[in-house]
Amino acid sequence: MKWLVATLTNKHRETATASTLVFDVPGWPGHLPGQHLDVRLTAEDGYSAQRSYSMAHPSDGATVVLTVQTVDDGEVSPYLTDTLQVGEQIELRGPIGGWFVWDRADPAPVLLVAGGSGVVPLMAMVRARVSEERQTPFRLIYSVRSPAESMFASELRALPGGIDVSYRYTRRNPEGLSTRPGRLSAADIAAHGWPADFAPRCFVCGPTGFVEAVADALVSMGHLPHRIKTERFGPTGSSA
Ligand SMILES: Cc1cc2nc3c(=O)[nH]c(=O)nc-3n(C[C@H](O)[C@H](O)[C@H](O)COP(=O)(O)OP(=O)(O)OC[C@H]3O[C@@H](n4cnc5c(N)ncnc54)[C@H](O)[C@@H]3O)c2cc1C
Repeated sequence: MKWLVATLTNKHRETATASTLVFDVPGWPGHLPGQHLDVRLTAEDGYSAQRSYSMAHPSDGATVVLTVQTVDDGEVSPYLTDTLQVGEQIELRGPIGGWFVWDRADPAPVLLVAGGSGVVPLMAMVRARVSEERQTPFRLIYSVRSPAESMFASELRALPGGIDVSYRYTRRNPEGLSTRPGRLSAADIAAHGWPADFAPRCFVCGPTGFVEAVADALVSMGHLPHRIKTERFGPTGSSA
């Protein structure tokens, strides 16, 4: 895989702490919903830092869309969300990952479980499903700190039938919701996911601990491990 030059063509705030960045990447080979790429930033003195980011949209020619959550004191994410300006360039390499991918030809129902910015590759799957004629049943369970930190909120509210979205707020509920905020539980997954008998494809993405807890809960509910695909958003970058 070659490093490609990516020019930022558009940037908008998704939440107070996350931004969506649209890049024009001549030579981009295309990607599947769920895949990610590497970003490389290089300073004038040659120092460089690399991080992984998931594509937020299905493939569309030379356009690559990322949604990045700012990690306070992070090296790369604040640069992307706050410093990088439209017209400026970075380097990208991808697509990466052939396992954590939704196959549009697969008729099985889909269960998506997101923790925080782990919703980004799952959003690429939702967007791919919206553009499909076949109306594969989709359910998204999104665990996020508060309504204000919930990404893609208006788009998720306006999805067509057959795609259900439920939220688990870990710190603060919207007004009027009487349940206590807290971690996503096996009971939440049982209430808002698919029963194991339906043999859904399960995609789980988020911080490592979240992914492990959800995958364990799914297995304990009878979902077969080979139908559960996981992606961990742990800190995996490198600097040189
Ligand atoms: C396959 C893959 C896909 C990813 N896709 C996305 C995506 O679409 N959107 C997105 O916003 N992020 C995504 N990430 C996370 C991303 O790669 C970076 O880890 C994240 O942006 C932080 O990088 P940084 O340079 O700002 O922070 P760093 O300089 O690497 O770290 C600064 C501090 O934050 C901690 N930290 C690092 N990463 C995280 C994290 N993810 N959550 C909480 N604390 C962290 C570190 O331990 C350190 O203390 C993905 C990660 C992987 C492995």
